[in-house]
Amino acid sequence: MQNNKEKSTSEVLKEQLFYKKISASVTLDDAEIKTADRYSEEYRRFLNAAKTEREAVNQALELAKSTGFVEFDRNAKLRPGDKVYVNNRGKSLLLAVLGTRPITDGVSIAAAHIDSPRLDLKPNPLYEDHELAYFDTHYYGGIKKYQWTALPLALHGVVILKDGTTVNVCIGEDESDPVFCVTDLLPHLSGEQMKKPASEFIKGEDLNILIGSRAFKDDKGSELVKLNIMKILNERYGIIESDFFSAELEAVPAFGARDVGLDRSMIGGYGHDDRVCAYPALTALLETEDPAYTAVTILADKEETGSEGNTGMQSAYLRYFIADIAAMSGQEARHVLSNSLCLSADVNVAYDPVYSDVVEIRNCAQLNHGVVLTKYTGSRGKSDTSDASAELMAEIRKMMDDNNVLWQIGELGKVDAGGGGTVAKYIADLNVDTVDLGVPVLSMHAPFEVVSKLDVYMAHKAFAALLGRK
Ligand SMILES: [Zn+2]
Repeated sequence: MQNNKEKSTSEVLKEQLFYKKISASVTLDDAEIKTADRYSEEYRRFLNAAKTEREAVNQALELAKSTGFVEFDRNAKLRPGDKVYVNNRGKSLLLAVLGTRPITDGVSIAAAHIDSPRLDLKPNPLYEDHELAYFDTHYYGGIKKYQWTALPLALHGVVILKDGTTVNVCIGEDESDPVFCVTDLLPHLSGEQMKKPASEFIKGEDLNILIGSRAFKDDKGSELVKLNIMKILNERYGIIESDFFSAELEAVPAFGARDVGLDRSMIGGYGHDDRVCAYPALTALLETEDPAYTAVTILADKEETGSEGNTGMQSAYLRYFIADIAAMSGQEARHVLSNSLCLSADVNVAYDPVYSDVVEIRNCAQLNHGVVLTKYTGSRGKSDTSDASAELMAEIRKMMDDNNVLWQIGELGKVDAGGGGTVAKYIADLNVDTVDLGVPVLSMHAPFEVVSKLDVYMAHKAFAALLGRK
């Protein structure tokens, strides 16, 4: 045994003055770690059932309805504690719990997104080439194209028939289902391919999904493999080729999320960005009872392509909803929004020792260090971002500390190393105080992303602190 050494003056001063990063796996007690693991298991189930924005809306709606949420009716007389939702075209969802304070005191908003990078089928996708049948795709969001080859893919989405009938498609998730893939070139013949920069060796136009190879037998003619595929699709779904024109079919990794590490401390899976924030923003709202400020969670679509379109965060649907609830007490939406507070719930890069040269460690989040508060995103000298004010940062710091949320500061990479954006700036544009807060991710936008279970749980606590604020 060693005697307790007296601390030197500099050690004492450092403790008082320096910021010290702490790891949740060291500071949390066993009971809270267990709670975090349990919560992460629920999240893992959600992730597997919600690989697309439509599926995420369905899953979220199911949970919301089971805890008393009803469809928003702008003519109904709403009271504090009432729980409502607005389903925006089945692809984005807004949920709210009415607060006790006057609506002009503002609302609390947790805004996450539920779309993830993937391969979308083109409007006219089916073709045959040398007796192999393919679906042609147009990738969605920021992907490294080479990561999407030689990987089992599942097909999710909807086909809307001319008469309006919706045909739901999900192939490749059940063990007995077939899967699909984009093929890659064998190393033996890749000499020329491997000389190209990684951004070029798989072209976007070459991300074609292999879907069949057996010809329709009892006939002579061309395109018999394609015919056989169309016949299978027709028998199973009642669709004909032109029905693809009114379809949204998305190819996503066919595997489920798994524990990562011998210590099972992490979860690997497809679509953490941004369901790892969407799920906590949702569960935090579902647990919110009688908040002071009206509490809103938004699960938005189209973030990965710029938040455009009527289901993206640049759409007016948040503004319209706020206008409707403001009108109930004879108020204007702008007076509500101007006093509102939003956590833009999105992921940030986690420090990866293998790729340490693109981040600056003092301003980079680390796995297991809790949620990451990101003052600004953007690129090229803080362009394309909402830079949260010092006052807002102080408010959020205090909120996190008061609610025992482990949090850290983060930036999206070194200056001029690249960059990115979130929905924060679109909500800030409505004159709402907005800052990004979310979960750090390894291998972001890859088909298999990794997060820490403790960080996922901290996200739930963080959004609960916001939505339940007094
Ligand atoms: Zn993303």
